[in-house]
Amino acid sequence: MTMSKEPDIREELFFQPKNGYDCIDREERILIEEYAEKYKAFLDEARTEREAVKLSIRMAEEAGFVEYRRGMPMQPGTKVYCSNRGKALILAVMGEQPLSEGCVIAGAHIDAPRLDLKQRPLTEQEELAFFRTHYYGGIKKYQWVAIPLELHGVVVLKNGETVDISIGREPGDPQFVITDLLPHLGADQGKKTLSEAITGEGLKLLIGSVPYACEGKDRVKLAIMSILNDMYGITEEDFLSAELAAVPAMEVRDIGLDRSMIGGYGHDDRSCAFAELQAILDLDTPPRTAVCILADKEETGSDGVTGMLSQAFDTFMEDLCDEQNVPLRRCFERSFCISADVCNGYDPLYPEVSEKDNNAKMNYGMGICKYTGSRGKSGTSDASAETVAKLRRIFDNAGVVWQMAELGKVDQGGGGTIAKYMANRNIETIDAGVPVLSMHAPFEIVAKFDCYMTYKGVLAVYEAE
Ligand code: MN
Ligand code: MN
Repeated sequence: MTMSKEPDIREELFFQPKNGYDCIDREERILIEEYAEKYKAFLDEARTEREAVKLSIRMAEEAGFVEYRRGMPMQPGTKVYCSNRGKALILAVMGEQPLSEGCVIAGAHIDAPRLDLKQRPLTEQEELAFFRTHYYGGIKKYQWVAIPLELHGVVVLKNGETVDISIGREPGDPQFVITDLLPHLGADQGKKTLSEAITGEGLKLLIGSVPYACEGKDRVKLAIMSILNDMYGITEEDFLSAELAAVPAMEVRDIGLDRSMIGGYGHDDRSCAFAELQAILDLDTPPRTAVCILADKEETGSDGVTGMLSQAFDTFMEDLCDEQNVPLRRCFERSFCISADVCNGYDPLYPEVSEKDNNAKMNYGMGICKYTGSRGKSGTSDASAETVAKLRRIFDNAGVVWQMAELGKVDQGGGGTIAKYMANRNIETIDAGVPVLSMHAPFEIVAKFDCYMTYKGVLAVYEAE
Protein backbone atom coordinates (compact mmCIF):
# COMPACT_ATOMS: atom_id res chain seq x y z
CA MET A 1 0.00 0.00 0.00
CA THR A 2 1.22 3.52 -0.77
CA MET A 3 0.36 6.83 0.89
CA SER A 4 -2.27 8.82 -0.97
CA LYS A 5 -0.73 11.93 -2.56
CA GLU A 6 -2.00 15.22 -1.11
CA PRO A 7 -1.36 18.51 -2.90
CA ASP A 8 1.62 20.49 -1.59
CA ILE A 9 0.15 23.18 0.65
CA ARG A 10 3.38 24.46 2.15
CA GLU A 11 3.19 27.57 0.00
CA GLU A 12 -0.18 28.36 1.57
CA LEU A 13 0.48 27.46 5.17
CA PHE A 14 4.12 28.18 5.85
CA PHE A 15 5.63 31.62 6.35
CA GLN A 16 8.52 31.90 3.95
CA PRO A 17 10.33 35.28 3.98
CA LYS A 18 11.93 36.31 0.70
CA ASN A 19 15.07 38.24 -0.10
CA GLY A 20 14.02 41.85 -0.64
CA TYR A 21 15.55 42.01 -4.09
CA ASP A 22 13.07 39.32 -5.18
CA CYS A 23 10.20 41.57 -4.06
CA ILE A 24 10.86 44.79 -5.99
CA ASP A 25 10.96 46.02 -9.57
CA ARG A 26 13.54 47.99 -11.55
CA GLU A 27 11.99 51.33 -10.71
CA GLU A 28 12.28 50.72 -7.00
CA ARG A 29 15.92 49.71 -7.39
CA ILE A 30 16.59 53.16 -8.79
CA LEU A 31 14.75 54.77 -5.86
CA ILE A 32 16.91 52.75 -3.46
CA GLU A 33 20.09 54.04 -5.11
CA GLU A 34 18.88 57.64 -5.05
CA TYR A 35 17.88 57.38 -1.41
CA ALA A 36 21.22 55.77 -0.49
CA GLU A 37 23.19 58.67 -1.98
CA LYS A 38 21.21 61.19 0.09
CA TYR A 39 21.70 59.14 3.24
CA LYS A 40 25.43 58.77 2.63
CA ALA A 41 25.83 62.54 2.37
CA PHE A 42 23.87 63.01 5.61
CA LEU A 43 25.92 60.42 7.48
CA ASP A 44 29.20 61.86 6.24
CA GLU A 45 28.33 65.32 7.52
CA ALA A 46 26.58 64.48 10.81
CA ARG A 47 29.32 63.02 13.00
CA THR A 48 27.86 64.15 16.33
CA GLU A 49 24.36 64.81 17.64
CA ARG A 50 24.99 68.56 17.43
CA GLU A 51 26.02 68.29 13.79
CA ALA A 52 23.00 66.06 13.07
CA VAL A 53 20.69 68.72 14.57
CA LYS A 54 22.29 71.53 12.56
CA LEU A 55 22.10 69.58 9.31
CA SER A 56 18.53 68.44 9.98
CA ILE A 57 17.40 72.01 10.66
CA ARG A 58 19.00 73.15 7.42
CA MET A 59 17.21 70.41 5.48
CA ALA A 60 13.91 71.11 7.29
CA GLU A 61 14.05 74.83 6.51
CA GLU A 62 14.70 74.04 2.86
CA ALA A 63 11.55 71.89 2.97
CA GLY A 64 9.44 74.73 4.40
CA PHE A 65 9.67 74.03 8.14
CA VAL A 66 9.91 76.98 10.53
CA GLU A 67 11.12 77.16 14.11
CA TYR A 68 8.25 76.62 16.53
CA ARG A 69 7.27 79.61 18.67
CA ARG A 70 4.68 79.33 21.43
CA GLY A 71 1.37 80.80 20.31
CA MET A 72 2.19 80.88 16.60
CA PRO A 73 -0.79 80.10 14.35
CA MET A 74 -1.03 76.40 13.61
CA GLN A 75 -3.27 74.75 11.05
CA PRO A 76 -3.30 71.48 9.10
CA GLY A 77 -0.12 71.34 7.05
CA THR A 78 1.89 73.71 9.29
CA LYS A 79 5.47 72.42 9.53
CA VAL A 80 7.57 73.25 12.58
CA TYR A 81 10.75 72.17 14.32
CA CYS A 82 11.97 72.64 17.85
CA SER A 83 15.61 72.23 18.83
CA ASN A 84 16.34 70.98 22.32
CA ARG A 85 19.53 72.86 23.22
CA GLY A 86 21.10 72.08 19.86
CA LYS A 87 21.48 68.38 20.73
CA ALA A 88 18.06 66.92 20.00
CA LEU A 89 15.33 67.93 17.59
CA ILE A 90 11.58 67.47 17.22
CA LEU A 91 9.79 68.15 13.95
CA ALA A 92 6.04 68.14 13.40
CA VAL A 93 3.60 68.45 10.53
CA MET A 94 0.11 69.33 11.76
CA GLY A 95 -2.50 66.83 10.58
CA GLU A 96 -6.04 67.14 9.27
CA GLN A 97 -7.41 65.67 12.49
CA PRO A 98 -7.22 67.38 15.89
CA LEU A 99 -4.64 66.24 18.44
CA SER A 100 -7.45 64.66 20.47
CA GLU A 101 -7.17 61.89 17.84
CA GLY A 102 -3.55 61.42 18.82
CA CYS A 103 -0.46 61.85 16.67
CA VAL A 104 1.88 59.55 14.80
CA ILE A 105 5.41 59.65 16.16
CA ALA A 106 8.68 58.27 14.84
CA GLY A 107 11.58 58.43 17.28
CA ALA A 108 15.22 57.74 16.50
CA HIS A 109 18.45 58.82 18.18
CA ILE A 110 21.30 60.81 16.72
CA ASP A 111 23.99 60.16 19.33
CA ALA A 112 26.46 57.34 18.64
CA PRO A 113 29.26 55.61 20.55
CA ARG A 114 32.43 57.71 20.59
CA LEU A 115 35.34 58.84 22.74
CA ASP A 116 34.55 62.00 24.70
CA LEU A 117 37.49 64.10 25.89
CA LYS A 118 37.77 64.38 29.67
CA GLN A 119 37.36 67.83 31.20
CA ARG A 120 41.12 68.01 31.79
CA PRO A 121 42.18 66.19 28.65
CA LEU A 122 45.61 67.54 27.84
CA THR A 123 48.64 65.64 29.10
CA GLU A 124 52.26 65.12 28.13
CA GLN A 125 54.10 61.84 28.60
CA GLU A 126 57.72 61.40 27.54
CA GLU A 127 57.54 64.35 25.17
CA LEU A 128 54.39 63.20 23.38
CA ALA A 129 51.12 65.06 23.90
CA PHE A 130 47.77 63.28 24.39
CA PHE A 131 44.10 63.95 24.99
CA ARG A 132 42.61 61.74 27.72
CA THR A 133 39.18 60.33 26.85
CA HIS A 134 36.16 58.76 28.50
CA TYR A 135 34.22 56.55 26.14
CA TYR A 136 30.51 57.25 25.49
CA GLY A 137 28.11 54.37 24.89
CA GLY A 138 28.86 50.67 24.53
CA ILE A 139 32.13 50.11 22.69
CA LYS A 140 34.58 47.28 22.20
CA LYS A 141 37.67 49.26 23.17
CA TYR A 142 40.10 47.29 21.02
CA GLN A 143 38.25 48.53 17.90
CA TRP A 144 39.19 52.16 18.59
CA VAL A 145 42.97 51.89 18.52
CA ALA A 146 45.09 52.29 15.39
CA ILE A 147 42.30 53.88 13.38
CA PRO A 148 42.13 57.52 12.18
CA LEU A 149 39.99 59.75 14.39
CA GLU A 150 38.57 63.24 14.07
CA LEU A 151 37.79 65.78 16.75
CA HIS A 152 34.35 67.42 16.88
CA GLY A 153 32.48 69.51 19.40
CA VAL A 154 32.24 72.79 21.20
CA VAL A 155 34.16 74.79 23.76
CA VAL A 156 31.91 77.19 25.64
CA LEU A 157 33.86 80.10 27.06
CA LYS A 158 33.15 81.54 30.49
CA ASN A 159 31.36 84.48 28.83
CA GLY A 160 28.93 82.03 27.18
CA GLU A 161 30.41 82.32 23.72
CA THR A 162 30.54 79.00 21.85
CA VAL A 163 33.57 77.96 19.83
CA ASP A 164 32.80 75.22 17.30
CA ILE A 165 35.60 72.75 16.74
CA SER A 166 35.95 70.32 13.86
CA ILE A 167 39.38 68.96 12.99
CA GLY A 168 40.05 66.07 10.65
CA ARG A 169 37.01 66.14 8.36
CA GLU A 170 38.34 68.44 5.65
CA PRO A 171 40.82 67.02 3.13
CA GLY A 172 44.31 67.90 4.31
CA ASP A 173 43.25 68.31 7.96
CA PRO A 174 45.40 66.51 10.51
CA GLN A 175 43.79 63.51 12.22
CA PHE A 176 44.38 61.68 15.48
CA VAL A 177 44.98 58.12 16.61
CA ILE A 178 45.24 55.93 19.66
CA THR A 179 48.28 53.73 19.39
CA ASP A 180 48.30 49.95 19.80
CA LEU A 181 51.14 47.64 20.77
CA LEU A 182 53.27 46.10 18.04
CA PRO A 183 52.72 42.33 17.67
CA HIS A 184 56.44 41.77 18.27
CA LEU A 185 55.93 42.87 21.87
CA GLY A 186 52.30 41.82 22.17
CA ALA A 187 52.77 38.42 23.80
CA ASP A 188 51.41 39.42 27.21
CA GLN A 189 48.68 41.59 25.71
CA GLY A 190 47.60 38.67 23.54
CA LYS A 191 46.88 36.57 26.62
CA LYS A 192 44.39 39.09 27.98
CA THR A 193 40.67 39.04 27.16
CA LEU A 194 39.39 41.41 24.46
CA SER A 195 37.82 43.66 27.08
CA GLU A 196 41.01 43.83 29.17
CA ALA A 197 43.68 44.14 26.48
CA ILE A 198 42.85 47.84 25.94
CA THR A 199 41.80 49.78 29.03
CA GLY A 200 39.49 52.77 29.31
CA GLU A 201 42.26 54.98 30.67
CA GLY A 202 44.50 53.67 27.90
CA LEU A 203 42.34 55.29 25.21
CA LYS A 204 44.51 58.40 24.87
CA LEU A 205 44.57 60.36 21.65
CA LEU A 206 48.02 61.14 20.23
CA ILE A 207 47.99 64.85 19.36
CA GLY A 208 51.54 66.15 19.10
CA SER A 209 55.28 65.67 19.46
CA VAL A 210 57.18 68.91 18.90
CA PRO A 211 58.36 70.87 21.98
CA TYR A 212 57.79 74.60 22.39
CA ALA A 213 61.02 76.53 21.94
CA CYS A 214 61.62 77.31 25.61
CA GLU A 215 63.16 75.85 28.75
CA GLY A 216 61.40 73.73 31.39
CA LYS A 217 58.86 70.91 31.45
CA ASP A 218 55.70 70.08 29.44
CA ARG A 219 57.07 71.78 26.35
CA VAL A 220 55.09 69.60 23.90
CA LYS A 221 51.88 70.20 25.82
CA LEU A 222 52.68 73.92 25.72
CA ALA A 223 53.25 73.83 21.97
CA ILE A 224 49.86 72.10 21.45
CA MET A 225 48.09 74.58 23.73
CA SER A 226 49.70 77.41 21.82
CA ILE A 227 48.40 76.00 18.51
CA LEU A 228 44.90 75.67 19.96
CA ASN A 229 45.13 79.21 21.30
CA ASP A 230 46.10 80.50 17.84
CA MET A 231 43.30 78.55 16.15
CA TYR A 232 40.46 79.06 18.63
CA GLY A 233 41.56 81.60 21.23
CA ILE A 234 41.15 79.07 24.04
CA THR A 235 43.29 78.25 27.08
CA GLU A 236 43.59 74.96 28.96
CA GLU A 237 40.98 76.06 31.51
CA ASP A 238 38.36 76.37 28.74
CA PHE A 239 38.34 72.57 28.32
CA LEU A 240 36.48 72.47 31.64
CA SER A 241 33.35 73.66 29.82
CA ALA A 242 33.87 71.83 26.55
CA GLU A 243 32.18 68.90 24.85
CA LEU A 244 34.71 67.44 22.49
CA ALA A 245 34.59 63.96 21.03
CA ALA A 246 36.91 61.82 18.96
CA VAL A 247 34.92 60.03 16.28
CA PRO A 248 36.04 57.69 13.48
CA ALA A 249 37.46 59.54 10.49
CA MET A 250 36.59 56.96 7.87
CA GLU A 251 34.62 58.27 4.93
CA VAL A 252 31.18 56.79 4.23
CA ARG A 253 31.63 54.33 1.36
CA ASP A 254 29.77 51.76 -0.70
CA ILE A 255 30.64 48.25 0.41
CA GLY A 256 30.81 45.21 -1.84
CA LEU A 257 31.46 44.78 -5.56
CA ASP A 258 27.73 45.15 -6.10
CA ARG A 259 27.71 48.35 -3.99
CA SER A 260 24.66 47.03 -2.15
CA MET A 261 25.83 48.05 1.32
CA ILE A 262 27.10 51.19 3.03
CA GLY A 263 30.00 51.33 5.45
CA GLY A 264 30.26 54.25 7.83
CA TYR A 265 30.30 55.55 11.37
CA GLY A 266 27.00 55.96 13.21
CA HIS A 267 24.43 53.93 11.23
CA ASP A 268 23.12 53.24 14.75
CA ASP A 269 20.95 55.18 14.70
CA ARG A 270 21.40 57.78 12.01
CA SER A 271 20.17 55.34 9.36
CA CYS A 272 16.77 55.44 11.10
CA ALA A 273 17.06 59.13 12.03
CA PHE A 274 17.60 60.03 8.40
CA ALA A 275 14.74 57.74 7.31
CA GLU A 276 12.35 59.53 9.68
CA LEU A 277 13.63 62.95 8.76
CA GLN A 278 13.34 62.31 5.04
CA ALA A 279 9.85 60.86 5.56
CA ILE A 280 8.55 63.88 7.48
CA LEU A 281 10.18 66.29 5.00
CA ASP A 282 8.38 64.47 2.17
CA LEU A 283 4.97 64.69 3.88
CA ASP A 284 2.18 66.86 2.63
CA THR A 285 -0.66 67.19 5.18
CA PRO A 286 -1.01 63.87 7.01
CA PRO A 287 -4.33 62.62 8.45
CA ARG A 288 -2.96 62.80 11.99
CA THR A 289 -0.19 65.11 13.18
CA ALA A 290 3.20 63.60 12.34
CA VAL A 291 6.04 64.00 14.81
CA CYS A 292 9.69 63.15 14.21
CA ILE A 293 12.00 62.85 17.21
CA LEU A 294 15.77 62.95 16.84
CA ALA A 295 16.87 62.15 20.38
CA ASP A 296 20.18 62.43 22.17
CA LYS A 297 21.65 60.26 24.96
CA GLU A 298 20.08 56.96 23.88
CA GLU A 299 23.46 55.26 24.00
CA THR A 300 23.89 56.17 27.68
CA GLY A 301 20.36 55.24 28.75
CA SER A 302 18.17 58.17 27.55
CA ASP A 303 18.67 60.13 30.78
CA GLY A 304 19.50 63.82 30.82
CA VAL A 305 17.82 66.93 29.54
CA THR A 306 18.26 65.99 25.86
CA GLY A 307 17.44 62.27 26.30
CA MET A 308 14.03 60.69 25.76
CA LEU A 309 13.36 60.59 29.50
CA SER A 310 13.46 64.39 29.51
CA GLN A 311 10.22 66.36 29.76
CA ALA A 312 11.34 68.39 26.76
CA PHE A 313 9.24 66.18 24.49
CA ASP A 314 6.14 66.44 26.70
CA THR A 315 6.54 70.20 26.91
CA PHE A 316 6.62 70.57 23.14
CA MET A 317 3.64 68.26 22.70
CA GLU A 318 1.73 70.02 25.45
CA ASP A 319 2.30 73.34 23.70
CA LEU A 320 0.76 71.91 20.52
CA CYS A 321 -2.12 70.40 22.51
CA ASP A 322 -2.80 73.59 24.52
CA GLU A 323 -3.46 75.46 21.32
CA GLN A 324 -6.31 73.02 20.56
CA ASN A 325 -7.46 72.77 24.19
CA VAL A 326 -6.61 69.06 24.24
CA PRO A 327 -5.16 67.56 27.42
CA LEU A 328 -1.74 66.08 26.60
CA ARG A 329 -2.66 62.75 28.19
CA ARG A 330 -5.65 62.39 25.85
CA CYS A 331 -3.39 62.98 22.89
CA PHE A 332 -0.82 60.45 24.10
CA GLU A 333 -3.31 57.68 24.81
CA ARG A 334 -4.44 57.76 21.18
CA SER A 335 -0.99 58.21 19.67
CA PHE A 336 1.20 55.68 17.94
CA CYS A 337 5.00 55.58 17.98
CA ILE A 338 7.55 53.81 15.86
CA SER A 339 10.72 53.65 17.88
CA ALA A 340 13.01 53.64 14.89
CA ASP A 341 16.23 52.03 16.01
CA VAL A 342 18.58 49.60 14.38
CA CYS A 343 18.59 45.86 15.03
CA ASN A 344 21.41 43.40 14.51
CA GLY A 345 21.73 41.85 11.09
CA TYR A 346 22.37 38.13 11.03
CA ASP A 347 26.09 37.61 10.56
CA PRO A 348 27.10 34.19 9.18
CA LEU A 349 30.59 34.72 10.63
CA TYR A 350 29.07 34.64 14.12
CA PRO A 351 26.15 32.21 13.83
CA GLU A 352 26.48 31.10 17.45
CA VAL A 353 24.88 34.24 18.91
CA SER A 354 21.72 34.27 16.83
CA GLU A 355 18.72 32.06 16.28
CA LYS A 356 18.51 32.33 12.54
CA ASP A 357 14.75 32.28 11.94
CA ASN A 358 14.06 35.10 14.40
CA ASN A 359 17.05 37.28 13.61
CA ALA A 360 16.86 40.08 11.04
CA LYS A 361 18.74 39.47 7.79
CA MET A 362 20.44 41.94 5.47
CA ASN A 363 18.25 42.87 2.48
CA TYR A 364 15.10 41.48 4.04
CA GLY A 365 13.76 44.95 4.79
CA MET A 366 12.81 47.00 7.83
CA GLY A 367 13.16 44.90 11.00
CA ILE A 368 10.18 44.96 13.36
CA CYS A 369 11.29 44.19 16.88
CA LYS A 370 8.32 43.21 19.04
CA TYR A 371 10.46 43.17 22.14
CA THR A 372 13.98 44.01 23.22
CA GLY A 373 15.49 43.58 26.70
CA SER A 374 17.67 40.86 28.15
CA ARG A 375 17.20 37.56 30.00
CA GLY A 376 13.43 37.19 30.47
CA LYS A 377 12.75 40.24 28.26
CA SER A 378 13.82 42.40 31.19
CA GLY A 379 13.50 46.10 30.39
CA THR A 380 11.31 45.74 27.31
CA SER A 381 8.05 47.47 26.49
CA ASP A 382 7.03 44.43 24.40
CA ALA A 383 4.61 45.73 21.77
CA SER A 384 1.22 44.01 21.80
CA ALA A 385 0.05 41.56 19.15
CA GLU A 386 -2.51 44.18 18.11
CA THR A 387 0.27 46.70 17.49
CA VAL A 388 2.29 44.23 15.42
CA ALA A 389 -0.82 43.38 13.40
CA LYS A 390 -1.44 47.07 12.74
CA LEU A 391 2.08 47.53 11.45
CA ARG A 392 1.85 44.38 9.27
CA ARG A 393 -1.29 45.86 7.74
CA ILE A 394 0.20 49.31 7.10
CA PHE A 395 3.44 47.93 5.67
CA ASP A 396 1.83 45.34 3.42
CA ASN A 397 -0.66 47.89 2.07
CA ALA A 398 2.16 50.30 1.26
CA GLY A 399 4.49 47.72 -0.30
CA VAL A 400 7.06 48.02 2.46
CA VAL A 401 9.39 45.02 2.63
CA TRP A 402 9.84 44.16 6.29
CA GLN A 403 10.86 41.30 8.55
CA MET A 404 10.69 40.26 12.17
CA ALA A 405 13.78 40.94 14.27
CA GLU A 406 15.13 39.63 17.56
CA LEU A 407 18.40 40.76 19.13
CA GLY A 408 20.30 37.48 19.23
CA LYS A 409 19.66 34.22 21.05
CA VAL A 410 17.80 34.04 24.35
CA ASP A 411 20.26 34.64 27.21
CA GLN A 412 22.99 35.77 24.82
CA GLY A 413 22.85 39.41 25.90
CA GLY A 414 20.38 42.07 24.87
CA GLY A 415 19.74 45.75 24.66
CA GLY A 416 17.14 48.49 24.73
CA THR A 417 15.90 51.50 22.83
CA ILE A 418 13.74 54.55 23.54
CA ALA A 419 10.61 52.39 23.00
CA LYS A 420 9.90 51.85 26.67
CA TYR A 421 10.17 55.54 27.49
CA MET A 422 7.56 56.30 24.84
CA ALA A 423 5.34 53.38 25.92
CA ASN A 424 5.61 54.49 29.56
CA ARG A 425 3.99 57.76 28.47
CA ASN A 426 0.91 55.71 27.50
CA ILE A 427 1.79 55.83 23.81
CA GLU A 428 1.35 52.62 21.81
CA THR A 429 4.93 51.91 20.72
CA ILE A 430 6.87 49.41 18.67
CA ASP A 431 10.52 49.12 17.63
CA ALA A 432 11.40 48.89 13.97
CA GLY A 433 14.51 49.80 12.03
CA VAL A 434 17.51 48.94 9.90
CA PRO A 435 19.53 45.73 10.46
CA VAL A 436 23.23 46.49 11.03
CA LEU A 437 26.42 44.42 10.87
CA SER A 438 29.27 45.29 13.27
CA MET A 439 26.91 47.46 15.31
CA HIS A 440 28.71 50.01 17.56
CA ALA A 441 32.00 49.45 15.71
CA PRO A 442 33.75 52.54 14.32
CA PHE A 443 32.71 51.37 10.83
CA GLU A 444 29.25 49.79 10.71
CA ILE A 445 27.51 48.16 7.75
CA VAL A 446 23.92 48.48 6.53
CA ALA A 447 22.19 47.36 3.34
CA LYS A 448 20.87 50.11 1.07
CA PHE A 449 17.70 48.10 0.56
CA ASP A 450 16.90 48.06 4.28
CA CYS A 451 17.64 51.77 4.69
CA TYR A 452 15.22 52.64 1.91
CA MET A 453 12.52 50.31 3.26
CA THR A 454 12.84 51.94 6.67
CA TYR A 455 12.18 55.33 5.06
CA LYS A 456 9.26 53.85 3.15
CA GLY A 457 7.96 52.21 6.32
CA VAL A 458 8.02 55.39 8.40
CA LEU A 459 6.38 57.33 5.56
CA ALA A 460 3.63 54.69 5.35
CA VAL A 461 2.98 54.99 9.08
CA TYR A 462 2.83 58.80 8.87
CA GLU A 463 0.39 58.61 5.97
CA ALA A 464 -1.84 55.87 7.41
CA GLU A 465 -5.12 57.22 8.70
MN1 MN B 1 20.37 52.55 18.62
MN1 MN C 1 23.26 51.61 19.97
